[in-house]
Amino acid sequence: MSDRPPGFSTLAVHAGAQPDPTTGARATPIYQTTSFVFNDADHAASLFGLQAFGNIYTRIGNPTNAVLEERVAALEGGTAALAVASGHAAQVVILQQLLQPGDEFIAARKLYGGSINQFTHAFKSFGWNVVWADPDDISSFERAVTPRTKAIFIESIANPAGSITDIEAISTVARKAGVPLIVDNTLASPYLIRPIDHGADIVVHSLTKFLGGHGNSLGGIIVDAGTFDWSTGGKYPMLSEPRPEYHGIRLQETFGNFAFAIACRVLGLRDLGPALSPFNAFMILTGIETLPLRMQKHCENAKAVAEFLAGHPAVASVSYAGLPSDKYNQLARKYAPKGAGAVFTFSLKGGYDAGVNLVSKLQLFSHLANVGDTRSLVIHPASTTHSQLDDAAKVKSGAGPDVVRLSIGIEDKEDLIADLEQALGA
Ligand SMILES: *Cc1c(COP(=O)(O)O)cnc(C)c1O
Repeated sequence: MSDRPPGFSTLAVHAGAQPDPTTGARATPIYQTTSFVFNDADHAASLFGLQAFGNIYTRIGNPTNAVLEERVAALEGGTAALAVASGHAAQVVILQQLLQPGDEFIAARKLYGGSINQFTHAFKSFGWNVVWADPDDISSFERAVTPRTKAIFIESIANPAGSITDIEAISTVARKAGVPLIVDNTLASPYLIRPIDHGADIVVHSLTKFLGGHGNSLGGIIVDAGTFDWSTGGKYPMLSEPRPEYHGIRLQETFGNFAFAIACRVLGLRDLGPALSPFNAFMILTGIETLPLRMQKHCENAKAVAEFLAGHPAVASVSYAGLPSDKYNQLARKYAPKGAGAVFTFSLKGGYDAGVNLVSKLQLFSHLANVGDTRSLVIHPASTTHSQLDDAAKVKSGAGPDVVRLSIGIEDKEDLIADLEQALGA
């Protein structure tokens, strides 16, 4: 092998994987087993005491999942990763390591609708309080910081309109506040944006979307950047204080720059239980091998569709950061020079009714609540994903009544445009 560090596409195919040492299998096998035999009693004891790394039980770790973890950590430039059952499970596991009841975290208001629900309602029942800030107004993050703030949460490319977040500016606020910056990188994927390069301390993904990429498997992943010092001021006791369940070890002291990933595994996944099935890990790994090729095509198609819509008389506006006239185009050039992603919104002159009508007339686009599939997808957020919000909050989060969201797939762009043309014209 040469000394050249492998490029992104090479990592997407190879990182974490080796031919199976027993059988020579070249594709990563699906280790469909709940548990793993110990060499002897000492080995078992050292695994349980975290003195040795190894497999115990698939709720805590699995060799197929481990390849996925190593691959995504490599693609994101992190020190370690933990795969879990879904993007939402990843968010719970992350915040459980950071917040005690009564603590707060600041979240950008422009988020996946499910995350808005999870943060507002489910997390409240744990005593974790979300404070909203406006990603277009960095000072709103500064103003939201209190002594109980434990983290800041943003999306790199934000739902639903595909707006681009100024990660570096918000990471400066997080640094000053002494809290980690968590970036949900689902809509960008590491091919378009690597948040750790811009100051993120933790990256989270719904693997369900572009990384898996084929709309067939749920999964989530947490990437530890290894950048945050958890020991300061006793603010993060899960990481800095002796753990009674592991003979009093302190995770940061013992595991250094991958302590957060370890905490998520041995305290979060072990005790909360949202393990990823090895079968799903296999499906997602297979998807990741073609991530660079797919993202190129997703972005090329999205730009063509956005340009078509921008010129159509029934369309009031298009919100796609890849268009030179878009308000996020400068940020897109800085953070996502290879393409502004494939999820964006547009609004129709006919308002709510026109949105519902369009969705019902489209044939090639599937009407469903997902993004990041090979297939092109459409949804009317105001009547579905964001319907729980009041009208003002809908508009603030980019999901007003006239807004339609698209997730552009990898079909022929001419066919996508023809489908939109017939549906808009009819
Ligand atoms: C889908 C999605 C999630 C939630 O992920 P699941 O795998 O559905 O639990 C979180 N954030 C973003 C940006 C998403 O698109």
